[in-house]
Amino acid sequence: MVAVLRRVYLDCAANTPLLPEVHKAMQSAFSLVGNPSAIHHEGRQLKNALEQARRQMADILNVLPSELSITSGGTEANNWALKGAVEQLGVRHLISSPIEHESILRPMEWLNKKGIVCTYLPVDTKGVLDMDALAKTLSDAQAHKQKCLVSLMHANNEIGNINDLLAISALCRRYEALIHSDAVQSMGSGSMAPFFQELDMITASAHKFHGPLGVGFLYVRQGVPLTAQLLGGPQERGMRAGTENIPGILGMAAALDIVYPNAPKHQQYLRKLKKYTIQQLQTHCTGMVFNGQSDQIEQSLPSLLSLRLPSVYLASDVPIQLDMKGIAISAGSACHSGAPTHSHVLRAIQAPLTQAHIRCSFSHLNTQSDMDYFVQQLASLGRGVGRRAQAARFDA
Ligand code: PLP
Repeated sequence: MVAVLRRVYLDCAANTPLLPEVHKAMQSAFSLVGNPSAIHHEGRQLKNALEQARRQMADILNVLPSELSITSGGTEANNWALKGAVEQLGVRHLISSPIEHESILRPMEWLNKKGIVCTYLPVDTKGVLDMDALAKTLSDAQAHKQKCLVSLMHANNEIGNINDLLAISALCRRYEALIHSDAVQSMGSGSMAPFFQELDMITASAHKFHGPLGVGFLYVRQGVPLTAQLLGGPQERGMRAGTENIPGILGMAAALDIVYPNAPKHQQYLRKLKKYTIQQLQTHCTGMVFNGQSDQIEQSLPSLLSLRLPSVYLASDVPIQLDMKGIAISAGSACHSGAPTHSHVLRAIQAPLTQAHIRCSFSHLNTQSDMDYFVQQLASLGRGVGRRAQAARFDA
């Protein structure tokens, strides 16, 4: 008999497992036929389902349905917010930080080449944003009559740090700057509710809150005159051309409908699970250090831990070794075109790049036993490579 390898999924910052209720909502959409722009019965049925899903999400988030524009996910929403702010809202100065997602940093780079001023606010070695630098940048820009957009994420996808969006938005109001936040990592935590009335634009992506891949939304506060980036059709009230991804949109609404009301319960559970995992790691994986504020329960996502491993782990490719033991985690580095490059976030917080880094991210579906298995396998991997290194020294 072949033993079935246990799988423990700890890469929820990359993608969260689809909930069965979401699957069901999507299946119901797959059985419908037609194009939501068509005027016949079938088309109207799809259009109704789409608008019902938008209303459902708007009710949950306490916003207007017209303030939610569906996108293909976080990347599109972030690109739209930044490029749209420049092309349509008269923004001439973009203010962000070096630890944002690439879908903020790359459009900024592109806009900078077109003459837009870009400021990257400093962060310290824990990844904490310099709020004085934000105030000074905004004040200088106002003195030069430069219209600004501040784009700062709510929760960081690599180290879990949470930005104080209320303090940031208060500064933006004071200096009459627009404010956008990439809330891809925190939308499912239920903690975004107070920010919808304070911010001009917010990005979300369904697959980070147990919804489907390839769908998300950009919240654009009523009165912010952002218009379409994608042209070629009247869909989304003229805000985004292209036939709508109905199964994805119904799935996203179903996911939000489950995760939002349950968020306080899930967050409490995750905080407990995180505390427990931190204790276990400190006991069994000595020499390991937490990156950013990921071990600060109140200052970081309760679902993410970023670890810098002792040098002994360098001899082993930790994510691959753990994958072979049935554990899915992510490396603290990105691999583009086969060449591993250290993450820009770890670089920005000056984490020693000569050591191995991993990110362990989980959801309410993970158990204490999952975390025990992860810690046990990580510790055993460290002991194994340690023993092999010692044996090699004796042999030499
Ligand atoms: N922003 C953050 C913070 C993310 O973590 C991600 C994805 O990992 C994105 C944006 C991009 O979202 P999507 O995968 O929906 O394009």
